[in-house]
Amino acid sequence: MDTPLCRVEIDQSALLHNFRFLQKTGLPLMPVIKADAYGHGLQLCASLYAAEGVTHLAVGSVEEACLVRKNGFNGHIIALLGLTSREDAQLATAFNITPVVHSFQNLRLAAQTLKNHPIALKVDTGMARLGFGVQDTPEVARFLSTTSLTPDFLLSHLAEADSPEAEDFTHNQHALLLQSAAPLQALNPSITLSLGNSACLLAYPQLAGNLGRPGIALYGGNPFFNTSLAIAGENLKPAMAVKAPVLSVHPLDAGKTIGYGRTFTTDKPTTVAIIGIGYADGYRRNPKTAPLLQGGACMAFTDPQSPDFGFRAPVIGRVSMQMTCLDITNAPFPLQEGDWAWIMGGPHAVAIHPHELATWWNTISYEVMCQLGKNRR
Ligand SMILES: *Cc1c(COP(=O)(O)O)cnc(C)c1O
Repeated sequence: MDTPLCRVEIDQSALLHNFRFLQKTGLPLMPVIKADAYGHGLQLCASLYAAEGVTHLAVGSVEEACLVRKNGFNGHIIALLGLTSREDAQLATAFNITPVVHSFQNLRLAAQTLKNHPIALKVDTGMARLGFGVQDTPEVARFLSTTSLTPDFLLSHLAEADSPEAEDFTHNQHALLLQSAAPLQALNPSITLSLGNSACLLAYPQLAGNLGRPGIALYGGNPFFNTSLAIAGENLKPAMAVKAPVLSVHPLDAGKTIGYGRTFTTDKPTTVAIIGIGYADGYRRNPKTAPLLQGGACMAFTDPQSPDFGFRAPVIGRVSMQMTCLDITNAPFPLQEGDWAWIMGGPHAVAIHPHELATWWNTISYEVMCQLGKNRR
């Protein structure tokens, strides 16, 4: 068991703000709470959306779906990763979970193990990951008519909805979904079509189908960050903050090195703070380090006199397993052992956005949330 020093805080008002913002599309929404709700907490998010009247939730594994059911959610729960075994099928039956069915082998397993049970079919319109071919759906419909399975949903997933230059590809995926739906609609006229992820809901809600499947936008990540459509997700509010304690504050003379590999040398008398978070806690071992003005990785501190303000301190040297070093020479107020450093979030004026961490880590906000969210709340 891992017992990190850092702590994760989830801002439920930000989660609600983002959910209600997406609701303005007018479409019913099936929040995607896979991977522990992108690190925000499976049960917390399931309960929060249920209280908002949500009747559909999407998770990853059947096991994750069962946790949501056991917590008392009584709407539809779709397991996006489908049935991976007969045990999954037994759980799906026992807890009334709707599995994604994406291949003929999958379909035969579902037909053998599930009776009078709803399923969500998945068709591949361009992601080339999971899904029947668009040309396969007539045969899927024929097979289904010989079983007691009910195809309640037809899903497809967009590959590049978050890049404005790929708009044509997104439109094409939508057209292919409609094409693949026809034989299944003949079997079940009320089958629900679902295509729209966060980017689609923000920029092309008309392509989303009858049920939106937002993930990252619910958690305050803007899928259009740094693109010409960034304004579409500008109002989203990050909901996760992460803090870790100061373990030590001490001076270093000019010309001294710090940390493993001695990768950083002080060019002046420097004050350093050692923070209790490292790569074991999901912080990247090799973030971009540079002075603040050059956009290097940093952490933030809250001004004890005025909680909306504070300052940022750059990461220096190598990140270790459970510790990271900061240059706090320019701190406008004194810091001491036991104070908290903000890894993400923090006082309004200097809050660290998930997209900044993503840039320093050379990744996307999704991974930042998933990694840091594994820590204790
Ligand atoms: C993760 C996922 C989503 C949500 O995508 P976002 O980009 O986070 O909005 C929707 N549908 C499927 C099938 C997914 O796996």
